[in-house]
Amino acid sequence: MADRLSLGTYAEVLANLIARAASAGFRVTSVTGISLGGCVEAIDTPRRGAFRRRAHAHNDRRDPHFGWLCFLSTELGRLITLAGRTALFAHEFAHLLAPGSGHGERWRRAVTALGYPAQARRP
Ligand SMILES: [Zn+2]
Ligand SMILES: [Zn+2]
Repeated sequence: MADRLSLGTYAEVLANLIARAASAGFRVTSVTGISLGGCVEAIDTPRRGAFRRRAHAHNDRRDPHFGWLCFLSTELGRLITLAGRTALFAHEFAHLLAPGSGHGERWRRAVTALGYPAQARRP
């Protein structure tokens, strides 16, 4: 089933995540950009970039692409929907809130604060 994502929907979902993070006391960094179909480092190249998982976040401040979220999927509408399929996006956004934590305690608190406690329980 295809979903169409409007920029308004994306802005609404992101604003909601940012509000939750802020009220939980996280220092909120904004999302610099979203790369679909591969890593931001591979944009304008024939490569997809290094990818081990379905998505990753650039959350090292020394990274020139700090704040980017990269997804292998090419369909943002599958990542962010008002119907609630936002878990993967929230998972990666939580990495921006907890730089250097991996899937550790601080990241688990972040993803839980965003409203996705089930993510924190995954191994
Ligand atoms: Zn990337
Ligand atoms: Zn992760």
